[in-house]
Amino acid sequence: MTELIPSERPRVHFPPIANGIDYLQSVVNHLAGEPTVWDLKYAVLHLQSATEVLLKARLQQEHWSLVFKDPGKADRVRFENGEFESCGTAEAISRLRGIVGIVVSEKDTKQIAQLAKWRNALQHYGLSVPAPAVESRAAQVLDILLRFITDHLVPGLSGGEAEFADEGIYTVRSRLAKIQAFIKTRMDRLRPELEPYAAQTVACPECSQPALPLVVDSPLSCRFCEETWATPEQLAHHYARNVLDPKAYADFENGGDGPLPRACPDCRSGLLVLDARTAAAPDRPSPLCFSCGNSYEELVACEYGCGSVVVPTKDGRRDLCPMCFEHAYGFDKP
Ligand SMILES: [Zn+2]
Ligand SMILES: [Zn+2]
Ligand SMILES: [Zn+2]
Repeated sequence: MTELIPSERPRVHFPPIANGIDYLQSVVNHLAGEPTVWDLKYAVLHLQSATEVLLKARLQQEHWSLVFKDPGKADRVRFENGEFESCGTAEAISRLRGIVGIVVSEKDTKQIAQLAKWRNALQHYGLSVPAPAVESRAAQVLDILLRFITDHLVPGLSGGEAEFADEGIYTVRSRLAKIQAFIKTRMDRLRPELEPYAAQTVACPECSQPALPLVVDSPLSCRFCEETWATPEQLAHHYARNVLDPKAYADFENGGDGPLPRACPDCRSGLLVLDARTAAAPDRPSPLCFSCGNSYEELVACEYGCGSVVVPTKDGRRDLCPMCFEHAYGFDKP
């Protein structure tokens, strides 16, 4: 008969914050040096896991029932056994705001949402994005999560747990600094090439770097991550979906008056994005045509209320779009 020997193997014990930080360490390890495709895949998966764990850890600090998909049906026994469906990342962000009073900015929420999309793509139908896009977005999400831990999780910890978190943050932060320096060097190298087109350069929908110039007769490609788009239509929609307000874009796709498209007053294509953010003016919306690359200082609605926009006339003539002008006067708008 075999003797029963007490096991000497360790227990697996990962409380949520330690678990989240452990995932972050894995992410920076995978991104170090020259990551392989395999490294980048695990960087995406582990970063998404870290995001979920850390956001929910803060909800849990508030009350354990808040991590249930339906807190009204929360049950302590099921919670302790891990036998429950938990809320998703978007819902966690909304609960943090509504219940805990922590506001994750719109910009950070978009980064997190894009990462979640990548993770879903990997799990369900495959992901195809350029390697530098993964590095760039991962660096941005790592930065968001480190700030989140420092500002919102560490204050609720004490003793050994707080010390462990501080050490973890320190290691991840110093490794992230190297990745950020690498990204900055790459952007600095691109600066002279991009500077002349600042008013036509937008943030890339894949990597978020302001490195995508819309210049006629030049390829539709991000100079940072080298993602390319076959047509301006594809790019404009990808941009509206990922970079602009995703809710407004969904509204547009459902037939609402969303951010796309408008007819460009110049080339008349329907690819004028009214609230584009350009490298020349990243903090305010600038109307930019994704077809001809024209950007506009000021546009006003067509006086006939047809939904088009026009460059305001300075000489007292009526602000009419070409279609309404022709309708009103019987000849082409000069
Ligand atoms: Zn890019
Ligand atoms: Zn145009
Ligand atoms: Zn009109």
